Amino acid sequence: MIHDPVPNMLAQATELLEAEFGSLPAYETAINAPAIAEVLEATAHRLADNYPYFHPLYAGQMLKPPHPVARAAYALAMTVNPNNHARDGGRASTEMEIEAVRGIATMFGWTESSDSYLGHLTSSGTIANLEALWVAGQLAPGRRILGSTQAHYTHNRISAVLKLDYTSIPADHRGRMSMEALEAELRKGDVGTVVVTMGTTGVGAVDPLDEVLTLKERYGFRVHVDGAYGGYFRLIPEALEEPARRAYALTAKADSIVIDPHKHGLQPYGCGCVLFRDPGIGRFYKHDSPFTYFTSKQLHLGEISLECSRAGASAVALWATQMLLPLTLGGEFARGLARSRAAALELDRRLREDDRFQPLVAGAPALDIVVWKLNAENEDVTSALANRVFLACAERDLHLALVELPLAWFRPAGGTANGAAAETFTCLRSVLMKPEHEAWLDRIWERLSSAYVDVVGE
Ligand SMILES: *Cc1c(COP(=O)(O)O)cnc(C)c1O
Repeated sequence: MIHDPVPNMLAQATELLEAEFGSLPAYETAINAPAIAEVLEATAHRLADNYPYFHPLYAGQMLKPPHPVARAAYALAMTVNPNNHARDGGRASTEMEIEAVRGIATMFGWTESSDSYLGHLTSSGTIANLEALWVAGQLAPGRRILGSTQAHYTHNRISAVLKLDYTSIPADHRGRMSMEALEAELRKGDVGTVVVTMGTTGVGAVDPLDEVLTLKERYGFRVHVDGAYGGYFRLIPEALEEPARRAYALTAKADSIVIDPHKHGLQPYGCGCVLFRDPGIGRFYKHDSPFTYFTSKQLHLGEISLECSRAGASAVALWATQMLLPLTLGGEFARGLARSRAAALELDRRLREDDRFQPLVAGAPALDIVVWKLNAENEDVTSALANRVFLACAERDLHLALVELPLAWFRPAGGTANGAAAETFTCLRSVLMKPEHEAWLDRIWERLSSAYVDVVGE
């Protein structure tokens, strides 16, 4: 493994921060250093019981290591451990959160001034989506929420928590929401909000936001974009296929947007984000708690967030990361995303040329998730093989993932429409979300091939 640069960076920065508080009288905290060292030793051993998520050969689930600058900034913030509920709990980190969120809003095409939208960090994409649907329900009580069958399962569950009716719309053979099926539901006249997933968690499909916005003109409803995983692909339009490019170009027209900096944004877990186009929705968050410490007249993030205490360190880490890697078209961060995407296209290309495998017939991946089935005499054998190849890859330190997908997605056009087929089977799935995956593709392919030979033979 590569030498970890974070402890060195952190030591220097910690000295600087301590010097900033140098005028305070010295104080002592009793710590038992040998006992702590022993506990940390045990901790290190315990943590080895994990897949190596940080390594390029981990190409399974949606896991991307935090950037060293994010880890160092997060740990540095632990010296003061700010709470972004209120300015009194974290003055600097409140400002850093406002600035970092502005960077994200600007990426989605909302203006640089902070009063033309409302947004804040959350502890996850789940909570961010919860807030967006909560506001949707406040604005249109009793109206239904729609999302595709490939939308994250959290929407269905959150809707139940909020006592809003939720309806799933079928997806096409690439995992995108069917516009015909959507319009059929809209004609019923009781829809409040449509959830548009830009980057589905399963296969990375991008719902056609452009077409949903056209339907919005006719039927009138709120558009919520769930870009928890895929939001950052807004930064590489040139690397996307036309339908996805058209969708990403229109994110500024959404009513609310969710993105997870802890997925593609190089952040430690505990960092989601929700944005609202109309800052007026802030009125729904109003509370008059007698005990929160709102001593400053300026906006407190606790006044526009459902969560109360929140990690100021998350904001510090995100701010530092965006200082180093601004969210700009063509910037270094965007180039990292483009490399992930290139790795996915290359893996897809190799799978298409190899008759042992079959990726989705409807076309190449929209973002950086690749799914494929193993060719065999029938679907039961295919599923069993996928499980065995998955394990044989793991023995070679290549970690892939498994996913259940509709059979119809692998049939040539003319198969059952709308992915409605009940039959699913097990496929292999790889989320190639690290920039390093591109350089490691040969080694990933070698291991996949040799695992296949092990399981099936030459
Ligand atoms: C991951 C994900 C979520 C849930 O976010 P968490 O941060 O895991 O709570 C919601 N929607 C989509 C599209 C996701 O990929």
